[in-house]
Amino acid sequence: MKKKIEVLDKFSGKVLDRVPQAGEADVRSAIGRAQKAFAVYSQWPAHKRAQVLETASRLLSERKDEIALTICREAGKAWKYSALEVDRAIETFKFAAEEAKRLHGETVPLDASTGGEGRLGFYLRTPIGVVAAISPFNYPLNLVAHKVAPALACGNTVVLKPATTTPLTSLLLQKILLEAGLPAGALEIVIGSGSTVGTWLVCDSRPAMVTFTGSPTVGEQITRLAGLKKITLELGNNGGVILEPDSDWKGAVDRCVMSAFANSGQVCISLQRIYVHKSIAAEFTERFVKAMSRLKVGDPTQKDCDVGPMISEDEAVRAQAWIDEAVRGGAKILAGGKRRGAILEPTLLGRVKPRMKVMCQEAFAPLASIVVYSDFDEALRQLSDTVYGLQAGIYTRDIGKALEAIKRLDFGGIMINDTPVFRVDHMPYGGNKCSGLGREGVRFAMEEMTNLRMVVIKP
Ligand code: NAP
Repeated sequence: MKKKIEVLDKFSGKVLDRVPQAGEADVRSAIGRAQKAFAVYSQWPAHKRAQVLETASRLLSERKDEIALTICREAGKAWKYSALEVDRAIETFKFAAEEAKRLHGETVPLDASTGGEGRLGFYLRTPIGVVAAISPFNYPLNLVAHKVAPALACGNTVVLKPATTTPLTSLLLQKILLEAGLPAGALEIVIGSGSTVGTWLVCDSRPAMVTFTGSPTVGEQITRLAGLKKITLELGNNGGVILEPDSDWKGAVDRCVMSAFANSGQVCISLQRIYVHKSIAAEFTERFVKAMSRLKVGDPTQKDCDVGPMISEDEAVRAQAWIDEAVRGGAKILAGGKRRGAILEPTLLGRVKPRMKVMCQEAFAPLASIVVYSDFDEALRQLSDTVYGLQAGIYTRDIGKALEAIKRLDFGGIMINDTPVFRVDHMPYGGNKCSGLGREGVRFAMEEMTNLRMVVIKP
């Protein structure tokens, strides 16, 4: 009998389903099947690959409620954000279907060099091979889609290891892709803990690439273990925003609250550090706390729920310990701060210091801090003072300040008049510094997932 993993409903704690746990031999066979499927699937014409992806997008939309409920239960994500995640994945597959048809190379003017005179040069983009994909718990559908859809659009095959806590949505996606016409073996799924199944997958010499989304610690381990493979890493962040008095900062309050607490703050571009100019700080804070009091916290399946449980009680305990530590160091709880099991109340801190964990590490919890500043230059310096570099936001109507921020901030994405949480699925997305290597966003992931083959013709 194969060992089974219990997948829990993160709100009720009840067992939702049991899934087979992969052993080392299962991982090896899954890679073998994906390799065999690659020999066939990589030869498919673009229109046929696009058709599968287009059909998968349609099937996702037809089964939206069923899939959203699975996300809601296995991840504890509030219903409205679970439904939004399905909408985004529908688009991600649609973008991939479109991009499959425009995957192309370019001619190269070889005669720009005297040595190249008389020759014709062009390059093709060819599929890279088997892609090993490892995904986190917080977007069990759309972050899987950001790996699977572009890989399949290029003609690659995939072995996916979803987070052990949230594997059910990826199993549903696999069924949908098979129904859409994907050949068997083109998407294999192996389930089990990162330290075993993840390591076996990363260390196997057959995948040509590892695409990973998760924590910086694991990302760094992967770079040491993967050997000669292409690697892309989408890692953490401690997202920040600056609110200048010249901006529509009153209009920004609700957006900032959503950015900090949606999905219980378990979003890589969640808003964690809020820098507010001293002239507006008192009123902004008052409005922010008032908006927080309207958040509905609890059962994520309720249609009006804003904040559900965290992925586990252990994670909520860890976040609460960070709050307690900050308070011991002089921080003040402006709202929230209490915990019931895996539910941590949305929490806002003031009087924080830059080296407190709640500021300098990734909270990945419904936890944000307000910092009051007096000078824009100083606020930019504080926002930049982080090992992370995923996305940041600046609210200002002063074009000079916006341009200064764009020039100085070392982040993969800079949002003017928005928080770091903005993302649509076709834009280049990824981080600098400890936030990652490479980019996702369908077309950009496809560039990472293809090889360039240079062709030179001598008449
Ligand atoms: P995690 O603990 O790093 O896990 C991510 C995935 O890696 C899971 O599937 C996990 O498996 C697996 N894993 C763990 N150890 C491994 C190892 N030694 N070798 C191979 N795989 C291993 O992260 P998480 O807690 O699920 O997600 C939170 C993190 O993801 C945060 O840091 C967040 O910022 C980041 N994130 C980044 C982005 C982005 O686009 N930049 C998006 C979302 C999340 P198991 O869990 O099954 O053990």
